Amino acid sequence: MSYKFLNNTVLITKSYIDSYVKSGQVVLDATVGNGNDTALLAEKVGSNGKVYGFDIQEHAIQKTKDLLNRFNFLERVELIKDSHENIQKYIPCKLDFIIYNLGYLPGGNKSIITKASSTIKSIHESLELLNNNGLLLINSYIGHENGLKEKNAVENMLKSLNQKKFNVLKNTFINQKNHPPILYIVEKSSDL
Ligand code: SAH
Repeated sequence: MSYKFLNNTVLITKSYIDSYVKSGQVVLDATVGNGNDTALLAEKVGSNGKVYGFDIQEHAIQKTKDLLNRFNFLERVELIKDSHENIQKYIPCKLDFIIYNLGYLPGGNKSIITKASSTIKSIHESLELLNNNGLLLINSYIGHENGLKEKNAVENMLKSLNQKKFNVLKNTFINQKNHPPILYIVEKSSDL
């Protein structure tokens, strides 16, 4: 199997970041993990933009720091070792783009995972902080029991959003085996 455009949600996410995130924007990576999205966001916002990155694991923060350092991106990124439930404590401004990669850190401790209740609380805060016409992306991994529970909670919450304020798109591979991840994309309306 070899696909260039519809390989997986990671690739689709990347194409959204590539086409949406612009120089000077302020953006949030709510689960930095290995730091790949954080580094791409840092590249796209440029030296006059800013990336906020959250993770509860020191290991993830350190891996991300190392990656950013390699590209000289550390100055434009603020890494915060705390739960993304608390983003409003740290972020004093509106955000143009927000991303969540749920689940556990690939190659890390599989028992440290995002959880439905804190994820939902955080997404509510994120939607508040999102600029008009800003985008929020959520990659939801449903291969493990907790992931399915979390996905159902996230999807129910997104379904209940008022269409006048937010439009929500669900991207799902309908012929892939082994529970492929689901990518949700939310845009905030400009006439609120
Ligand atoms: N499953 C994805 C990667 C997810 S990484 C993939 O396969 O690509 C998820 C990250 O979220 C982990 O590094 C984990 O430490 C972090 N995390 C878990 N709970 C969190 C919380 N409440 N706030 C911030 N980060 C959290």
